[in-house]
Amino acid sequence: MSATLPLKAGSRLVLASHNKGKLVEFTALLAPYDIEVISAGELNLPEPEETATTFEGNAQLKALAAAKATGLPALADDSGLCVSALGGAPGIYSARWAGPEKDFPAAMKRIEDGIGGDERDAWFICVLALAFPDGSGKCFEGRIDGTIAPEPRGAAGHGYDPIFVPVGESRTFAEMTDAEKNAISHRARAFEAFREGCLS
Ligand code: IMP
Repeated sequence: MSATLPLKAGSRLVLASHNKGKLVEFTALLAPYDIEVISAGELNLPEPEETATTFEGNAQLKALAAAKATGLPALADDSGLCVSALGGAPGIYSARWAGPEKDFPAAMKRIEDGIGGDERDAWFICVLALAFPDGSGKCFEGRIDGTIAPEPRGAAGHGYDPIFVPVGESRTFAEMTDAEKNAISHRARAFEAFREGCLS
């Protein structure tokens, strides 16, 4: 995808997510640039199935569907945890490993059981895709490297935060404050790349 960049002040942007937390987060991030954020949920847009095999592919298909349905630029993200000893799994299946019950303790145990050795390297990826109604667009990736803790620690955050120790830290993401995590997270890094590429 190529893109019509940057986004101009006063633009309206659809956030291709039904997650209220993401709407709040992106509205705050985009507020200084005078970009109005509207969520796919507010517009009752259908959620496309994540049928791609890469983070980029899934982010793109969500952004493109929202851009085409609304005639507005759209932003979508896809993220997950990749574990070296598991060949990069759960990766794009990170949410699906927790099942419909969002059973992350079970998903974290599945990771621990699968590792079975000393190779504990892991990384979080976030890809942000910006798409325009004409089909053009661009992706921005953020990544944070770390290791998998031997057992879950900490009560903050969400998902796999209790088992992820970022490089240079001894605490898991779930033992950090939101501000500490947001200063280094894959999501923050992807947004930084998006900000540099698209916002003036
Ligand atoms: P999605 O991109 O919102 O579909 O999220 C994918 C899944 O990746 C989430 O359900 C979590 O399981 C996992 N994930 C993504 N980012 C994080 C994070 O910052 N901490 C913990 N888990 C995460």
